[in-house]
Amino acid sequence: MCPFQKMECVSLPPLSTFAVCGGTHGNEMTGVYAVREMEKHTAKKKGSVSITAVLANPRAVDACRRYTDTDLNRCFTDALLSSPITDSSPYELSRAQELNTQLGPKGSEKAVDLLVDLHNTTANMGLCLIFYSVDWITLHIYKYIQSKMPSMPVKAIQLDIPISDAYSLESVGKHGFAIEAGPQPGGVLRADIFNMVKEAVDHTIAWLEEFNSGCTFEGGEVEAYTFIRSVDYPRDQAGELTAAIHPKLQDNDFQLLRPGDPIFLTFSGETVKHEGEELYPFFVNECAYYEKKIAFHLARKTTFTFPSICVAKD
Ligand SMILES: [Zn+2]
Repeated sequence: MCPFQKMECVSLPPLSTFAVCGGTHGNEMTGVYAVREMEKHTAKKKGSVSITAVLANPRAVDACRRYTDTDLNRCFTDALLSSPITDSSPYELSRAQELNTQLGPKGSEKAVDLLVDLHNTTANMGLCLIFYSVDWITLHIYKYIQSKMPSMPVKAIQLDIPISDAYSLESVGKHGFAIEAGPQPGGVLRADIFNMVKEAVDHTIAWLEEFNSGCTFEGGEVEAYTFIRSVDYPRDQAGELTAAIHPKLQDNDFQLLRPGDPIFLTFSGETVKHEGEELYPFFVNECAYYEKKIAFHLARKTTFTFPSICVAKD
């Protein structure tokens, strides 16, 4: 079971509490149904890991909308989590503070050991982990999922944001990452996407059990995509779109964009080309990002190295 039992390792505290969240965006159906399924089975808990399944934004889930007042997954900065709640506060802000009480508080010893938040995207991103800090636990789990799902391109994105400014739910855990899976339209369930995410969650639980049982996980390296910048759609003076994603870019998330490669096709038929350095696009034509004025993000490929780790014996 433990292939590298005796090698030198950095010892880290056990990871005994695991929160799986879904429905942070109420129309991203994989997480909604994965969490509902897990809630039915929480009584059957066994092993070293206590698992909590949380439907993060129940009002938005009921309405099958991304959110009701404001994007919940932008509410978990230190500033917003400590801001006063009044009658006129957005629902999602008060819900973020409730979740922080339940699963955090963020940055505290009481916080859940690992928090994974399940999302869907309309972009063709496959299975993709998103994390903030370079965290050895997350990198090990990422490598483990990759090794267990060899037929699936499993990727990861790093957002280089200090944890105090980290705005999404997974930042509340001591360790955490989001799982993005797509392409899947809002309000739609697809069995292939659902099964891919469920498998990744099951591998995460298996990794936690192996880690807690004393297995040493060998150090190594993984490739991930580091966020560089966002690109907006071409717009007219009134702010209306004048172009759509170019067909040659559509569905080609993580395919290297070189200067001169087409990125937009204007409504009058002209091609807009990528300029500047070679970068990798992701979240290409994500439905929810039109309101954020984002047509796609650009990233650089980075190699992250990490040491062998094992659980600290007390
Ligand atoms: Zn989402």
